[in-house]
Amino acid sequence: MDAWHSNIAPKLETKSSKLLIHSFVVKQHKGLTINPYQGCQHRCGYCYATYEWSPDFYDKIYAKSNAPEILESQLKSSKFKRIEPVMISSATDPYQPAEVRYGLTRRCIQVLQKYKAPYYVFTKSINILRDLDLHRGYRDNCFLVWSITTCDENIRRLIEPGTPPADVIFGVIRKFVDAGVCCAVNIDPILPLITDSEAHLDKIITACSNNGVRHVFGALLRLRADIWERMKTILDALDIHEGSYKYQKTIFQFSEPIRPGVNIGPSKSYENRMLDILTYRVRCKGMIPKFPAFLWNRPTMSDQYTDTINHGSQHTLMKYV
Ligand code: SF4
Repeated sequence: MDAWHSNIAPKLETKSSKLLIHSFVVKQHKGLTINPYQGCQHRCGYCYATYEWSPDFYDKIYAKSNAPEILESQLKSSKFKRIEPVMISSATDPYQPAEVRYGLTRRCIQVLQKYKAPYYVFTKSINILRDLDLHRGYRDNCFLVWSITTCDENIRRLIEPGTPPADVIFGVIRKFVDAGVCCAVNIDPILPLITDSEAHLDKIITACSNNGVRHVFGALLRLRADIWERMKTILDALDIHEGSYKYQKTIFQFSEPIRPGVNIGPSKSYENRMLDILTYRVRCKGMIPKFPAFLWNRPTMSDQYTDTINHGSQHTLMKYV
């Protein structure tokens, strides 16, 4: 098994940061993002954020100890006179276990609230429950996005061993829904041959519906050289017959080796079919198959569900400006 799949606790270190809030561009969309941590101990094998800090991404977590202060000084500056919605976070999970120790995400959110900045959180963690009151008190100007890829515990333990089980996450989502906070679920990435069956998606969608989630959307896996190496390990571990062959010949249509820096999406026909199924099933349950749009004021964002963004997952599509 590759190094990403490990039970060894990561090293936690602190460091100072010169800037915290960054602009980003995802295709035609612009926004702001903050990452109070560097690295992530959720250890998702498909993570797109890994390449920035490999090979230590999963094993060494840096807490940006001056993050709240830097954020406040940036928000005070003239550059951000009109504060656009802030994504927390784009390249790490802001509520990973390190947050319990350092509390940087909480303090950054308090700064954003002080400056009346709209924000949305991407997380897979149940540690966010600590901040229920914080988000509830700001619910007209924030929403939460939960990244859930599977309700199958055998698969979850393999593909993202540092995350909580889906039923535990849904228990936390229910508490935020009951508190009146808008909750969305991003099924991202959908993994071909692993989590792409209609029955598999239906389990997640039904759990969303049962727990009051309003928005459900998703995206397909994208391959990069390091992600492909981890995916081969996962396909083998799950005994998926000819999985590696089918990824190369039919679903992603590429030849090894994948050159550094190259990102490969699945074939358009496969991707469209999967997203059509997802959209249909979500609508059947009376939920909205789009990213929450009330903060963006950009119709194209809500109309393009294929442009959904996610911590880690959005990283191939995003460039900082
Ligand atoms: S996908 Fe998100 S939660 Fe998973 S390791 Fe990457 S940053 Fe962490």
